[in-house]
Amino acid sequence: MLAKKVQSISPSPTLAIDAKAKQMKKEGIDVIGFGVGEPDFDTPAHIKEAAVQAIKDNFTRYTPVAGCQELREAICQKLKNDNQLLYKPQEIVVSNGAKHSLSNAFAALLNPGDEVIIPAPYWVSYPEIIKINDGVPVIVATSAKHNFKITATEIAGALTSRTKAIILNSPNNPTGQVYTRRELEEIACLALEHNLYIVSDEIYEKLIYGQQPHISIAALGEEIKTRTIVVNGVSKTYAMTGWRIGYAAATAPIAKLMSNLQSHATSNANSIAQKAALAAILGPQDCVAQMKAAFAKRRDYMVQKIKSIPELNCIEPDGAFYVFVDVSKLFGRSYRGQQITDSMDFATLLLEKAQVALVPGTAFGAPNYVRLSYALSLEQAQEGMERIENFIKQLD
Ligand code: PMP
Ligand code: GLU
Repeated sequence: MLAKKVQSISPSPTLAIDAKAKQMKKEGIDVIGFGVGEPDFDTPAHIKEAAVQAIKDNFTRYTPVAGCQELREAICQKLKNDNQLLYKPQEIVVSNGAKHSLSNAFAALLNPGDEVIIPAPYWVSYPEIIKINDGVPVIVATSAKHNFKITATEIAGALTSRTKAIILNSPNNPTGQVYTRRELEEIACLALEHNLYIVSDEIYEKLIYGQQPHISIAALGEEIKTRTIVVNGVSKTYAMTGWRIGYAAATAPIAKLMSNLQSHATSNANSIAQKAALAAILGPQDCVAQMKAAFAKRRDYMVQKIKSIPELNCIEPDGAFYVFVDVSKLFGRSYRGQQITDSMDFATLLLEKAQVALVPGTAFGAPNYVRLSYALSLEQAQEGMERIENFIKQLD
């Protein structure tokens, strides 16, 4: 019999929908992709040049497992400047994308049966990463009334003697919500009271459109910093999804465990991509501002358009590049005899009949919703939203 644990893992639905949409495009079908969360921009030129230079300089050998010293120093500088966090290079582990950092983090924290609290709606990979690392995901529903941000009281209600950690993701995928200092303080207080660890996924920190600034929970005090593993990376901020560079910051003993594990699993992250990430972090940041301005325009359009369609509803996303849309008013309606009973039916019919890809909320633990990524051009977003509107008009 093949591994039971791995057989219990489902494939990433976001990547699966992306693969399907890309395949349809290849077949000449004009699909609008609101599916995957991947910036549509090219990686900025100075970052690509740094990679070319790395090849020319023969920076093509193994680096230290946790990343080259220069990059870890640059990450420390970034954490200090942007997040008021003081880390030493030996507390940083560079990995093959933030997803890999998350996996290393849970591998370092969990013993079999340890529970991890995951606020729902959640990013698709959290439960599976926890299961891969012998943990037990404990999904805690949050309320739309509180903009889907988990409260300390909700966490307290889910605690057991096996609770080991909480995963936080702000700005949030899929809801786009950003936690306030006050909200984080309450969670930090509870975590310290119960000796919990926090895995803080801050991958969307640079993509914030509202007034609420990004705050790392680790920055709230020395005590909570020692209980937190901060995860970040360059994929979203610098349009570098394919380069596969993410990183974690943690106490030296935790970082050591992550690095030891990585030394046997993958060794260092790609040396050339590390040089590219170094240029991204140390180089000019106007590219980030330009991409953010484009995302902001698309976000405004999406929110206004969704609110103009009576069957749809959403809360305004303050960050990331997703709108989480309540489609429950469509349940029970039908398209030419085919009934929509849930968000999965809606997503499937929309892709087949209107060639629009989006991700059903079931993937995020929120079955009444669908997630639309606006990491596509404004023109494409407009075309896609018109198709959705027309599709809804055709429902009985
Ligand atoms: N965390 C969240 C919330 C994400 O949406 C993603 C999407 N890719 C990741 C982590 C992983 O990022 P990476 O591409 O760096 O692995
Ligand atoms: N994180 C992105 C998303 O949610 C990319 C896909 C993935 O890594 O799952 O769509």
